Amino acid sequence: MNIHEYQAKGILEKYGVTIQKGIVADTPEEATEAAKKLNKETGTEWYVLKAQIHAGGRGKGKVKETDSNGVVLAKSLEDVAPKSKAILGGTLVTHQTGEEGKLVSKLLVAQDVYYPGEHEPKEYYVGILLDRAKGCNVIMASTEGGVDIEDVAENTPDKIIKEWIDPRVGLQGFQARKVAFKLGLEGDAFKNMVKFIHSLYTAYDATDSSMFEINPVLKTSDNKILAVDAKVNLDDSALYRHKDLADMRDKSEEDPAEVEAAESGLNYVKLDGNVGCMVNGAGLAMATMDIIKLSGGDPANFLDVGGSANAETVEAGFRIILKDPKVEAILINIFGGIVRCDRVAKGVVEAYKNIGDIKVPIIVRLQGTNAEEGAKIIEDSGLKVTSAIVLKDAALRVKEALA
Ligand code: GDP
Ligand code: MN
Repeated sequence: MNIHEYQAKGILEKYGVTIQKGIVADTPEEATEAAKKLNKETGTEWYVLKAQIHAGGRGKGKVKETDSNGVVLAKSLEDVAPKSKAILGGTLVTHQTGEEGKLVSKLLVAQDVYYPGEHEPKEYYVGILLDRAKGCNVIMASTEGGVDIEDVAENTPDKIIKEWIDPRVGLQGFQARKVAFKLGLEGDAFKNMVKFIHSLYTAYDATDSSMFEINPVLKTSDNKILAVDAKVNLDDSALYRHKDLADMRDKSEEDPAEVEAAESGLNYVKLDGNVGCMVNGAGLAMATMDIIKLSGGDPANFLDVGGSANAETVEAGFRIILKDPKVEAILINIFGGIVRCDRVAKGVVEAYKNIGDIKVPIIVRLQGTNAEEGAKIIEDSGLKVTSAIVLKDAALRVKEALA
């Protein structure tokens, strides 16, 4: 699950990670109030206004309606309201949102931390994520902060420092020092970075996160180390033990079909193709998507209805798939192990009748317990549903349906 920058910074602060301070606002008036408060607390006279959407690249992104960037600097208190107005309620388009962009309904008003001083402020990158191949967490850091880290990783991979953490002992002091040293830091900045990395790792670990990306981490002109941006990805499977974090979910940022699917207990991921599919079991779903590709189609989604598909789950799955206007055919591929095929077939027929007026062809492939009975129920129903028992057959039917 993704969360907003202001929420992520709240988590970081709780674990002692030093951050660029900010206050979230819903209106230009609230933004001005927030700026006043920041001025009192931190003494700052410049304010950074940051659109809160679940996508990066906001600094270079543009609000469609006003041409404002998604991250702007206000150099006075009077400047805050008009500049906030140009972002709030607008549609922000960044290289991560797609052309349609994202509606901005919250703004983070933050203190300016790029103030001049003894040294030039410098941006770094620090990330923590799970290295699945090595089976442990890895801390990644780079002196090339601020810019797209994907480009750095691709073009100059030697500029990415990696430190793997042994899960049996956790992050060791020498490892944090090694990272700070390789970043070329000295004196107070070095000490602050070591502390920063330790607190960051504690936060990552304690929240069961699957990714932290702090880009940029800023070394200020007076050698403080601060998280200026924060992208946090929480592990959905661990949310049951973090109710406070689960409550941070912002459904308006998520695909509505995916939200509906989650509420019906379905595993659904929206894709761009023209063949909807409904399958039980994630492995079979992956294989089914391959078969759709081989038959000349493109999967419109990944949908795993789970091991205990019944009429209700089948109907919920149908409804979600049918909402996608790109869908030209639906392939239902169920292996009857625990669930019996005749029951699924009844579910399909019932759901079909309940929804009514389904215009796209439906191909059902049932295999396993009571497969023959299932196929018969479908054929006898008189509905525009084609049944297939062998997967190859099903693929052929999909091909015919698309022709
Ligand atoms: P992103 O574009 O969505 O990744 O948003 P960031 O939070 O990373 O901010 C984008 C850019 O805004 C940063 O790389 C900085 O250059 C700039 N920025 C952020 N905070 C400040 C600040 O306090 N002062 C100034 N002058 N610039 C800032
Ligand atoms: Mn950033």
